[in-house]
Amino acid sequence: MKALVYTNPNEVTYREEPEPQFGAGDVLIEVDAVGICGSDMHAYHGHDPRRNPPLILGHALAGRILEGPGKGRRVTVNPLITCGHCEYCKQGRDNLCANRTMIGMTRAGGFAERVSTAAASVIDIPQDMSVRAAALTEPAATAVHALNVAMRALVRPLPECRVLVLGGGAIGMLSALLLKSYGVRHVTVSETNALRRASLEKAAQVATYDPLQANAAHAPADNSMDLVIDAVGGKATRASALAAVKPAAW
Ligand SMILES: [Zn+2]
Ligand SMILES: [Zn+2]
Repeated sequence: MKALVYTNPNEVTYREEPEPQFGAGDVLIEVDAVGICGSDMHAYHGHDPRRNPPLILGHALAGRILEGPGKGRRVTVNPLITCGHCEYCKQGRDNLCANRTMIGMTRAGGFAERVSTAAASVIDIPQDMSVRAAALTEPAATAVHALNVAMRALVRPLPECRVLVLGGGAIGMLSALLLKSYGVRHVTVSETNALRRASLEKAAQVATYDPLQANAAHAPADNSMDLVIDAVGGKATRASALAAVKPAAW
């Protein structure tokens, strides 16, 4: 099959690869759409010691089951393959599974015509959902998880909270869209890139500002936010988050 293989730092090669390994309890999936995760970019730049070349990257995907249980179903995947019997799996927190493996990391990923994964990691998608939208399930789940954790801790109902999202990349955009769909009225997104700010304003109808610009309109006052989502995870955004969040808020 054809695949895009991470062959060296800053190098990917489109080439012929063997068909995916496919064992008992696995499904073989024909990939119809696959996204590029920030972690794929880290790997491509040679900054991820867990992803070593040669490796087929890619784990945010949607497609159809060709072989195995559920043949013919349209699916997306949880890229994690978990053991089902460790302490975390038994608690339903299988994202923390001590024995987890992952497509596009410890085994071949989705930048290929076909990929195999555990049948238990496959999730059906609605018949009317496009494969391109379905391929965004994994990054969207990251934002859903952050909001679920926040909602357990917030003192006020989420729609009444003033929320700041730091960064308007995939996770920041998906967080902003989810917040709006949950009815949150005050959502502000900090983003240095003008094109991304324009997309956020158009797609999510949120206020945006450039954190590098002094006294930008919509820049939050210190201690003014009920919830801050750091969708960048850098030194500067950590400092901005701590400055913007109210005392004892999230
Ligand atoms: Zn990812
Ligand atoms: Zn486990």
